[in-house]
Amino acid sequence: ILSTRITSLNAGGGDGWEIFYKARALRTAGVPVTELTIGEPDERTDPAILTEMHRAATAGHTGYAIVPGIPALRDAIAARVTERTGVPTTRDNVLVTPGGQSALFAAHMAACNPGDAALMIEPHYVTYPGTIRAAGAIPHSIETRPEHSFFPDPAEVRRKARQTGASALLVNSPNNPTGAIYPRATLEGLAEVACDGDFWLISDEVYDTQIWEGEHLSPRALPGMAERTMVIGSLSKSHAMTGSRIGWLIAPEAAIAALIDLATNTTYGVPGYIQDAALYALTSDDALEPRVAEPFRRRRAQAQEILARQNIVGLVPSGGAMYLFLDIRATGLSGIEFADALLDTHRIAVMPGESFGPSAAGFLRVALTIPDDRFAEALTTLTGFAAT
Ligand code: PLP
Repeated sequence: ILSTRITSLNAGGGDGWEIFYKARALRTAGVPVTELTIGEPDERTDPAILTEMHRAATAGHTGYAIVPGIPALRDAIAARVTERTGVPTTRDNVLVTPGGQSALFAAHMAACNPGDAALMIEPHYVTYPGTIRAAGAIPHSIETRPEHSFFPDPAEVRRKARQTGASALLVNSPNNPTGAIYPRATLEGLAEVACDGDFWLISDEVYDTQIWEGEHLSPRALPGMAERTMVIGSLSKSHAMTGSRIGWLIAPEAAIAALIDLATNTTYGVPGYIQDAALYALTSDDALEPRVAEPFRRRRAQAQEILARQNIVGLVPSGGAMYLFLDIRATGLSGIEFADALLDTHRIAVMPGESFGPSAAGFLRVALTIPDDRFAEALTTLTGFAAT
Protein backbone atom coordinates (compact mmCIF):
# COMPACT_ATOMS: atom_id res chain seq x y z
CA ILE A 1 0.00 0.00 0.00
CA LEU A 2 1.43 3.38 -0.99
CA SER A 3 1.39 6.30 1.41
CA THR A 4 -1.11 9.07 0.82
CA ARG A 5 1.84 11.46 0.85
CA ILE A 6 2.98 9.84 -2.38
CA THR A 7 -0.40 9.18 -3.96
CA SER A 8 -1.61 12.75 -3.30
CA LEU A 9 1.23 14.45 -5.15
CA ASN A 10 -0.72 15.09 -8.31
CA ALA A 11 -3.82 16.29 -6.51
CA GLY A 12 -4.47 19.93 -7.27
CA GLY A 13 -1.62 19.93 -9.76
CA GLY A 14 -3.91 21.26 -12.46
CA ASP A 15 -5.60 19.72 -15.47
CA GLY A 16 -4.68 19.94 -19.10
CA TRP A 17 -1.43 18.00 -18.99
CA GLU A 18 -3.04 15.42 -21.24
CA ILE A 19 -2.44 17.87 -24.10
CA PHE A 20 1.27 17.94 -23.37
CA TYR A 21 1.39 14.12 -23.32
CA LYS A 22 -0.72 13.88 -26.47
CA ALA A 23 1.73 16.19 -28.24
CA ARG A 24 4.67 14.09 -27.05
CA ALA A 25 2.97 10.88 -28.21
CA LEU A 26 2.32 12.38 -31.65
CA ARG A 27 5.95 13.40 -31.93
CA THR A 28 7.12 9.94 -30.89
CA ALA A 29 4.86 8.51 -33.61
CA GLY A 30 6.69 10.69 -36.14
CA VAL A 31 4.07 13.43 -36.52
CA PRO A 32 5.73 16.88 -36.57
CA VAL A 33 4.36 19.00 -33.71
CA THR A 34 5.27 22.58 -32.85
CA GLU A 35 5.77 22.41 -29.09
CA LEU A 36 5.34 25.59 -27.11
CA THR A 37 4.67 23.82 -23.85
CA ILE A 38 7.39 23.44 -21.24
CA GLY A 39 9.80 26.08 -20.01
CA GLU A 40 12.99 24.80 -21.53
CA PRO A 41 15.31 27.23 -23.33
CA ASP A 42 15.82 26.11 -26.94
CA GLU A 43 19.45 27.19 -26.74
CA ARG A 44 21.65 24.37 -25.43
CA THR A 45 24.09 24.88 -22.57
CA ASP A 46 26.94 27.13 -23.73
CA PRO A 47 29.91 25.09 -25.08
CA ALA A 48 32.31 26.85 -22.69
CA ILE A 49 30.27 25.62 -19.70
CA LEU A 50 30.29 22.11 -21.15
CA THR A 51 34.05 22.28 -21.64
CA GLU A 52 34.45 23.16 -17.97
CA MET A 53 32.10 20.30 -17.00
CA HIS A 54 34.20 17.90 -19.05
CA ARG A 55 37.45 19.26 -17.62
CA ALA A 56 36.16 18.84 -14.07
CA ALA A 57 34.88 15.33 -14.72
CA THR A 58 38.13 14.19 -16.32
CA ALA A 59 40.08 15.86 -13.48
CA GLY A 60 38.32 13.40 -11.19
CA HIS A 61 35.52 15.50 -9.73
CA THR A 62 33.21 12.54 -10.04
CA GLY A 63 33.13 11.34 -6.43
CA TYR A 64 30.78 12.42 -3.66
CA ALA A 65 30.82 16.18 -3.42
CA ILE A 66 30.51 18.01 -0.11
CA VAL A 67 26.78 18.07 0.72
CA PRO A 68 26.00 21.81 1.09
CA GLY A 69 27.94 22.59 -2.09
CA ILE A 70 31.60 23.28 -2.84
CA PRO A 71 32.74 26.41 -0.94
CA ALA A 72 33.76 28.31 -4.09
CA LEU A 73 30.30 27.86 -5.61
CA ARG A 74 28.51 28.80 -2.39
CA ASP A 75 30.70 31.92 -2.26
CA ALA A 76 29.93 32.78 -5.88
CA ILE A 77 26.18 32.41 -5.32
CA ALA A 78 26.41 34.49 -2.14
CA ALA A 79 28.35 37.19 -4.01
CA ARG A 80 25.77 37.20 -6.80
CA VAL A 81 22.91 37.58 -4.33
CA THR A 82 24.71 40.30 -2.36
CA GLU A 83 25.48 42.24 -5.53
CA ARG A 84 22.00 41.98 -7.01
CA THR A 85 19.93 42.53 -3.88
CA GLY A 86 22.18 44.55 -1.58
CA VAL A 87 21.54 42.06 1.23
CA PRO A 88 24.82 40.86 2.79
CA THR A 89 24.89 37.12 2.06
CA THR A 90 27.59 34.58 2.87
CA ARG A 91 28.15 30.94 2.02
CA ASP A 92 26.39 30.05 5.29
CA ASN A 93 23.19 31.38 3.75
CA VAL A 94 23.53 29.12 0.70
CA LEU A 95 22.59 25.50 0.08
CA VAL A 96 23.43 24.17 -3.39
CA THR A 97 20.59 21.92 -4.59
CA PRO A 98 19.77 19.67 -7.54
CA GLY A 99 17.72 22.39 -9.27
CA GLY A 100 15.26 24.94 -8.03
CA GLN A 101 12.69 22.18 -7.65
CA SER A 102 14.69 20.53 -4.88
CA ALA A 103 15.16 23.93 -3.20
CA LEU A 104 11.38 24.45 -3.26
CA PHE A 105 10.91 21.16 -1.47
CA ALA A 106 13.66 21.93 1.06
CA ALA A 107 12.16 25.36 1.80
CA HIS A 108 8.75 23.87 2.58
CA MET A 109 10.35 21.14 4.70
CA ALA A 110 12.05 23.90 6.70
CA ALA A 111 8.97 26.10 6.99
CA CYS A 112 6.15 23.64 7.63
CA ASN A 113 5.37 20.98 10.19
CA PRO A 114 3.29 18.04 8.95
CA GLY A 115 -0.28 19.18 8.28
CA ASP A 116 0.56 22.91 8.31
CA ALA A 117 -1.10 25.17 5.76
CA ALA A 118 1.13 26.60 3.03
CA LEU A 119 -0.17 29.40 0.80
CA MET A 120 0.51 29.75 -2.90
CA ILE A 121 -0.65 32.29 -5.46
CA GLU A 122 -2.75 31.03 -8.38
CA PRO A 123 -2.12 30.65 -11.29
CA HIS A 124 1.08 28.94 -10.24
CA TYR A 125 3.91 26.74 -11.45
CA VAL A 126 2.57 23.29 -11.91
CA THR A 127 4.52 21.44 -9.23
CA TYR A 128 3.71 23.79 -6.34
CA PRO A 129 0.78 21.85 -4.82
CA GLY A 130 2.60 18.52 -5.13
CA THR A 131 5.83 19.92 -3.69
CA ILE A 132 3.98 21.31 -0.70
CA ARG A 133 2.23 17.97 -0.17
CA ALA A 134 5.51 16.08 -0.52
CA ALA A 135 6.85 18.24 2.31
CA GLY A 136 3.87 17.13 4.42
CA ALA A 137 2.00 20.44 4.30
CA ILE A 138 -1.41 21.34 2.84
CA PRO A 139 -1.50 23.75 -0.14
CA HIS A 140 -4.04 26.60 -0.17
CA SER A 141 -4.46 28.76 -3.27
CA ILE A 142 -5.05 32.46 -3.37
CA GLU A 143 -6.43 33.48 -6.73
CA THR A 144 -5.23 36.47 -8.68
CA ARG A 145 -7.19 38.21 -11.43
CA PRO A 146 -6.32 39.52 -14.90
CA GLU A 147 -7.89 42.91 -14.11
CA HIS A 148 -5.31 43.26 -11.31
CA SER A 149 -2.45 42.17 -13.60
CA PHE A 150 -2.37 38.85 -11.70
CA PHE A 151 -0.85 40.58 -8.67
CA PRO A 152 -1.89 39.11 -5.32
CA ASP A 153 -3.89 41.28 -2.96
CA PRO A 154 -2.09 41.39 0.42
CA ALA A 155 -5.44 41.84 2.23
CA GLU A 156 -6.69 38.59 0.71
CA VAL A 157 -3.45 36.84 1.68
CA ARG A 158 -3.84 38.16 5.22
CA ARG A 159 -7.38 36.77 5.43
CA LYS A 160 -6.33 33.38 4.10
CA ALA A 161 -3.29 33.24 6.38
CA ARG A 162 -5.45 33.95 9.43
CA GLN A 163 -8.10 31.48 8.39
CA THR A 164 -5.62 28.64 7.79
CA GLY A 165 -2.90 29.51 10.32
CA ALA A 166 -0.38 29.29 7.47
CA SER A 167 3.32 28.61 8.07
CA ALA A 168 4.50 29.78 4.66
CA LEU A 169 3.58 31.88 1.65
CA LEU A 170 5.14 30.98 -1.70
CA VAL A 171 5.50 33.79 -4.22
CA ASN A 172 6.97 33.67 -7.72
CA SER A 173 8.00 36.88 -9.43
CA PRO A 174 8.72 37.04 -12.35
CA ASN A 175 5.83 34.65 -12.51
CA ASN A 176 5.30 31.40 -14.32
CA PRO A 177 2.81 31.29 -16.05
CA THR A 178 1.62 34.92 -16.17
CA GLY A 179 4.96 36.76 -16.52
CA ALA A 180 3.84 39.20 -13.81
CA ILE A 181 6.56 41.06 -11.93
CA TYR A 182 5.15 42.08 -8.57
CA PRO A 183 5.54 45.78 -7.82
CA ARG A 184 7.33 46.95 -4.70
CA ALA A 185 4.04 47.92 -3.00
CA THR A 186 2.64 44.40 -3.48
CA LEU A 187 5.79 42.79 -2.10
CA GLU A 188 5.85 45.23 0.82
CA GLY A 189 2.23 44.35 1.56
CA LEU A 190 3.00 40.61 1.46
CA ALA A 191 6.09 41.11 3.63
CA GLU A 192 4.01 42.94 6.22
CA VAL A 193 1.47 40.10 6.25
CA ALA A 194 4.27 37.53 6.73
CA CYS A 195 5.77 39.57 9.60
CA ASP A 196 2.41 40.10 11.31
CA GLY A 197 1.52 36.42 10.93
CA ASP A 198 5.06 35.35 11.86
CA PHE A 199 5.43 32.97 8.93
CA TRP A 200 7.95 32.31 6.17
CA LEU A 201 8.00 33.94 2.77
CA ILE A 202 9.35 31.54 0.15
CA SER A 203 10.36 33.48 -2.94
CA ASP A 204 10.86 31.54 -6.17
CA GLU A 205 13.10 33.75 -8.31
CA VAL A 206 14.24 31.31 -10.99
CA TYR A 207 13.26 33.83 -13.72
CA ASP A 208 15.19 36.76 -12.22
CA THR A 209 17.40 37.07 -15.29
CA GLN A 210 14.43 37.39 -17.65
CA ILE A 211 13.20 40.91 -17.00
CA TRP A 212 11.63 42.63 -20.01
CA GLU A 213 9.81 45.52 -18.36
CA GLY A 214 9.99 46.98 -14.89
CA GLU A 215 12.32 45.89 -12.15
CA HIS A 216 12.75 42.68 -10.20
CA LEU A 217 12.80 43.11 -6.44
CA SER A 218 13.69 40.23 -4.16
CA PRO A 219 11.43 40.41 -1.09
CA ARG A 220 14.41 39.23 0.99
CA ALA A 221 15.77 42.77 0.50
CA LEU A 222 12.80 44.41 2.25
CA PRO A 223 13.37 45.61 5.83
CA GLY A 224 13.32 42.76 8.34
CA MET A 225 12.69 40.13 5.67
CA ALA A 226 16.11 38.45 5.40
CA GLU A 227 15.27 36.61 8.63
CA ARG A 228 12.03 35.12 7.34
CA THR A 229 12.60 34.73 3.61
CA MET A 230 13.93 31.75 1.70
CA VAL A 231 14.84 32.34 -1.94
CA ILE A 232 14.89 29.73 -4.70
CA GLY A 233 17.47 30.20 -7.47
CA SER A 234 18.51 28.09 -10.44
CA LEU A 235 20.75 27.99 -13.49
CA SER A 236 18.09 26.09 -15.47
CA LYS A 237 16.54 29.13 -17.13
CA SER A 238 19.35 31.69 -16.75
CA HIS A 239 22.05 29.51 -18.32
CA ALA A 240 20.04 26.89 -20.24
CA MET A 241 21.14 24.20 -17.79
CA THR A 242 17.79 22.48 -17.14
CA GLY A 243 19.23 18.98 -17.39
CA SER A 244 22.24 19.67 -15.17
CA ARG A 245 19.92 20.00 -12.15
CA ILE A 246 21.66 22.83 -10.39
CA GLY A 247 20.06 25.47 -8.20
CA TRP A 248 20.18 26.86 -4.69
CA LEU A 249 18.32 27.96 -1.64
CA ILE A 250 19.15 31.20 0.19
CA ALA A 251 18.00 31.28 3.82
CA PRO A 252 19.05 32.36 7.31
CA GLU A 253 22.09 30.46 8.61
CA ALA A 254 20.14 28.34 11.10
CA ALA A 255 17.77 27.18 8.38
CA ILE A 256 20.67 26.28 6.06
CA ALA A 257 22.39 24.35 8.86
CA ALA A 258 19.21 22.29 9.38
CA LEU A 259 18.69 21.84 5.66
CA ILE A 260 22.21 20.46 5.23
CA ASP A 261 20.96 17.60 7.42
CA LEU A 262 17.94 17.23 5.15
CA ALA A 263 20.20 17.15 2.07
CA THR A 264 22.50 14.61 3.75
CA ASN A 265 19.51 12.35 4.25
CA THR A 266 17.92 12.87 0.83
CA THR A 267 19.89 14.14 -2.18
CA TYR A 268 23.42 13.85 -0.76
CA GLY A 269 24.42 16.88 -2.75
CA VAL A 270 25.06 17.74 -6.39
CA PRO A 271 27.79 16.17 -8.59
CA GLY A 272 31.10 18.00 -8.29
CA TYR A 273 31.64 18.43 -12.04
CA ILE A 274 28.20 20.06 -12.33
CA GLN A 275 29.11 22.40 -9.49
CA ASP A 276 32.39 23.32 -11.19
CA ALA A 277 30.47 24.07 -14.39
CA ALA A 278 27.99 26.19 -12.39
CA LEU A 279 30.87 28.10 -10.82
CA TYR A 280 32.24 28.77 -14.29
CA ALA A 281 28.79 29.85 -15.52
CA LEU A 282 28.41 32.34 -12.68
CA THR A 283 31.90 33.81 -12.67
CA SER A 284 33.63 33.54 -16.03
CA ASP A 285 31.67 35.49 -18.62
CA ASP A 286 29.04 38.16 -18.01
CA ALA A 287 27.69 37.65 -21.53
CA LEU A 288 26.41 34.12 -20.83
CA GLU A 289 23.24 35.26 -19.08
CA PRO A 290 22.05 37.92 -21.56
CA ARG A 291 22.83 35.52 -24.42
CA VAL A 292 20.26 33.03 -23.11
CA ALA A 293 17.66 35.70 -22.32
CA GLU A 294 17.91 37.63 -25.60
CA PRO A 295 15.90 35.29 -27.88
CA PHE A 296 12.97 35.40 -25.44
CA ARG A 297 13.01 39.20 -25.42
CA ARG A 298 13.06 39.21 -29.22
CA ARG A 299 10.22 36.71 -29.62
CA ARG A 300 8.12 38.53 -27.04
CA ALA A 301 8.47 41.74 -29.10
CA GLN A 302 7.59 39.76 -32.23
CA ALA A 303 4.49 38.40 -30.47
CA GLN A 304 3.38 41.86 -29.40
CA GLU A 305 3.40 42.91 -33.06
CA ILE A 306 1.53 39.84 -34.28
CA LEU A 307 -1.10 40.05 -31.56
CA ALA A 308 -1.64 43.79 -32.13
CA ARG A 309 -2.98 42.94 -35.61
CA GLN A 310 -6.08 41.23 -34.24
CA ASN A 311 -8.43 41.58 -31.33
CA ILE A 312 -9.58 38.10 -30.38
CA VAL A 313 -6.55 36.81 -28.52
CA GLY A 314 -5.38 39.18 -25.80
CA LEU A 315 -1.80 39.39 -24.58
CA VAL A 316 -1.66 39.64 -20.82
CA PRO A 317 0.75 42.50 -20.06
CA SER A 318 3.79 41.00 -18.39
CA GLY A 319 7.20 42.01 -17.18
CA GLY A 320 9.33 38.89 -17.38
CA ALA A 321 9.83 35.14 -17.85
CA MET A 322 9.95 33.08 -21.02
CA TYR A 323 6.21 32.80 -21.73
CA LEU A 324 3.25 34.62 -23.23
CA PHE A 325 0.04 34.40 -21.23
CA LEU A 326 -2.81 34.69 -23.71
CA ASP A 327 -6.37 35.68 -22.91
CA ILE A 328 -8.69 33.57 -25.07
CA ARG A 329 -11.93 34.31 -23.21
CA ALA A 330 -13.35 36.03 -26.31
CA THR A 331 -13.39 32.68 -28.14
CA GLY A 332 -15.81 31.20 -25.60
CA LEU A 333 -13.51 28.18 -25.26
CA SER A 334 -11.72 27.00 -22.15
CA GLY A 335 -7.95 26.68 -22.25
CA ILE A 336 -8.22 22.91 -22.51
CA GLU A 337 -10.78 23.05 -25.33
CA PHE A 338 -8.73 25.60 -27.27
CA ALA A 339 -5.38 23.83 -26.77
CA ASP A 340 -6.81 20.44 -27.64
CA ALA A 341 -8.45 21.70 -30.83
CA LEU A 342 -5.30 23.64 -31.82
CA LEU A 343 -3.24 20.48 -31.44
CA ASP A 344 -5.72 18.41 -33.44
CA THR A 345 -6.10 20.85 -36.31
CA HIS A 346 -2.70 22.54 -36.54
CA ARG A 347 -0.28 20.31 -34.59
CA ILE A 348 0.66 23.19 -32.31
CA ALA A 349 0.91 22.38 -28.60
CA VAL A 350 0.45 25.04 -25.91
CA MET A 351 -0.37 24.76 -22.20
CA PRO A 352 -3.99 25.39 -21.20
CA GLY A 353 -4.39 27.87 -18.34
CA GLU A 354 -6.09 25.16 -16.26
CA SER A 355 -2.70 23.47 -15.85
CA PHE A 356 -1.75 26.32 -13.52
CA GLY A 357 -4.95 26.31 -11.47
CA PRO A 358 -8.67 26.26 -12.26
CA SER A 359 -9.02 30.05 -12.17
CA ALA A 360 -6.88 30.34 -15.34
CA ALA A 361 -9.31 28.41 -17.55
CA GLY A 362 -9.71 31.23 -20.08
CA PHE A 363 -5.99 31.51 -20.76
CA LEU A 364 -3.12 29.77 -22.52
CA ARG A 365 0.58 29.73 -21.77
CA VAL A 366 2.86 29.82 -24.78
CA ALA A 367 6.58 29.20 -24.27
CA LEU A 368 8.92 31.48 -26.24
CA THR A 369 11.18 28.55 -26.96
CA ILE A 370 11.38 27.88 -30.69
CA PRO A 371 13.30 29.75 -33.42
CA ASP A 372 11.88 33.18 -34.36
CA ASP A 373 10.49 32.31 -37.79
CA ARG A 374 8.70 29.18 -36.60
CA PHE A 375 7.50 31.01 -33.53
CA ALA A 376 5.96 33.83 -35.58
CA GLU A 377 4.31 31.30 -37.88
CA ALA A 378 2.86 29.30 -34.98
CA LEU A 379 1.49 32.39 -33.26
CA THR A 380 -0.06 33.65 -36.50
CA THR A 381 -1.71 30.24 -36.97
CA LEU A 382 -2.97 30.34 -33.37
CA THR A 383 -4.61 33.74 -33.81
CA GLY A 384 -6.10 32.67 -37.15
CA PHE A 385 -7.51 29.57 -35.45
CA ALA A 386 -8.98 31.70 -32.64
CA ALA A 387 -10.82 33.77 -35.23
CA THR A 388 -12.56 30.78 -36.83
N1 PLP B 1 10.11 27.38 -10.26
C1 PLP B 1 9.46 27.76 -11.37
C2 PLP B 1 8.51 28.90 -11.28
C3 PLP B 1 9.65 27.08 -12.58
O1 PLP B 1 8.99 27.47 -13.66
C4 PLP B 1 10.55 26.00 -12.61
C5 PLP B 1 10.76 25.22 -13.85
O2 PLP B 1 10.04 25.33 -14.80
C6 PLP B 1 11.21 25.65 -11.42
C7 PLP B 1 10.97 26.36 -10.27
C8 PLP B 1 12.16 24.48 -11.33
O3 PLP B 1 13.27 24.67 -12.08
P1 PLP B 1 14.60 23.77 -11.91
O4 PLP B 1 14.29 22.69 -10.93
O5 PLP B 1 14.90 23.25 -13.26
O6 PLP B 1 15.62 24.72 -11.39
